[in-house]
This record gives sequence, C-alpha cells and structure tokens, in this order.
Amino acid sequence: MLIADKLQAVKATLPQGVELVAVSKYHPVEDIKEAYRAGQRVFGENIVQELRVKQPVMPDDVEWHFIGHLQTNKIKYIAPFVSLIHSVDSFKLLSEISRQAIKFGRRIDCLLQIHVAEEETKFGFTVEECRQMLDEGSWRGLAGVRLRGVMCMASNIDDTSQVHAEFRRVFDFFTQAKVEFFVDAPEFSIRCYGMSHDYSIAIEEGSNMVRIGTAIFGERPTKNE
Ligand SMILES: *Cc1c(COP(=O)(O)O)cnc(C)c1O
Repeated sequence: MLIADKLQAVKATLPQGVELVAVSKYHPVEDIKEAYRAGQRVFGENIVQELRVKQPVMPDDVEWHFIGHLQTNKIKYIAPFVSLIHSVDSFKLLSEISRQAIKFGRRIDCLLQIHVAEEETKFGFTVEECRQMLDEGSWRGLAGVRLRGVMCMASNIDDTSQVHAEFRRVFDFFTQAKVEFFVDAPEFSIRCYGMSHDYSIAIEEGSNMVRIGTAIFGERPTKNE
C-alpha cells in the first residue's frame, strides 16, 4: 500500500479531535514528502541529528514534533523551529528549553512525559515526581516554554487490560493537574498517547494526540526504539 493510502486509512480511524503525529523517524525524506503531499503536516522525530537534516529540506509549514529523549546540549539545534517537545522529563530540561527558546525569540510548547510503563528503560517523570515539580512552582517563571499537556508510552505487552490501566493513570494525572495547576490555562489540553499497536486503546482512554509511525510508513529501516 502507498504511504498516502496508509495515511488515509489511519486517519479514517481517528475520531474528530484526535490529532495525528506522523512519526517519520528513520524514514527517508522522500517518504515524508509523500505523506506531506497527501496532506499531513505534523511529523514526529526522535533524534536531533536526523531532525536537523530533514527540517531544512521540507516545506516551512511542516510542524516538527520532537518525541525522543532530549539532551540539554542538543536543544539549541531544534529550538529555532521545533513546534512541540513531547519528552520533558525534568525541571532542568524544561528550564534549558526555556533558555534556548528565549535566545531565539520563541516560546516553545512542551509536554510532560510521564513514565507509567513497566520497562525500566523508558524515560519520563513518575506521576509523583511530576506532581512535585508542578507543586514546587518554579516552572511558572519560565518565559520560554508553555506546558501544553502530558505524554506517555504504555508497556509493550499483550495484556490490554494493563495497557488500558497505564493510559488511564496518565489521563487521571492530567485531569488532576489541570484542576490544581492549569485552571486558567486552556492551552494545557494535550493528552498524547498511543502508537501504531495501541492507539485505539489510547483513544478509548482519552488520548487526543497519537504518534503513529509503522502503520503509515511501514517497518523502520533500522531498529530504533
Ligand atoms: C517510534 C515512536 C512512536 C511510533 O511508533 P510506531 O509503533 O511506529 O507507531 C511513537 N512514539 C514514540 C515516542 C516513538 O519513539
């Protein structure tokens, strides 16, 4: 199936109000262009160096989302153009993003990555750590960032009841954080979870932004998880 057809097939399954991030990591620019010609504008990448190569050769109206683990020393390379950073997992990272954003005269939208999966290797705040960070309050002084919501990855397992429970945990955290810290911030509205294999569960559990790679672009040329 053509990328354009797979993209349309995925989009047909998304309820209104659920935004699609097409995860193009490890796929060549030609493939991204095909999705672009089919109307897709929001793309997700998880390696700074790869994003730096792809961004200048794609049209300016592409919205690039950074979805991978971000090292503070690399923020400067994406700060001029990135439209949403999904992977904020510490106050230190958030404040560095803010500093770089200000340098470039920007305010960068960010999601708080919450760790709910079993895998030790996945990044993110625990729910408790994230609450502590929000409680502490210094984030309110960061003029270069805007917190837009939460992001997570569920365990990669067959037990769908656990996947449901992990997503629900993040939904509940979002709801509480919204009330406690973001009542006056309508922009704190994004619940980003769900990938190719679990996005229908994620949507049932309140996701309004899904990150889908394989179901659109096919298997990645190189293993990259
Ligand atoms: C690669 C990746 C995805 C997309 O995964 P697929 O299984 O290819 O849909 C989503 N989110 C993150 C954070 C990723 O790194």
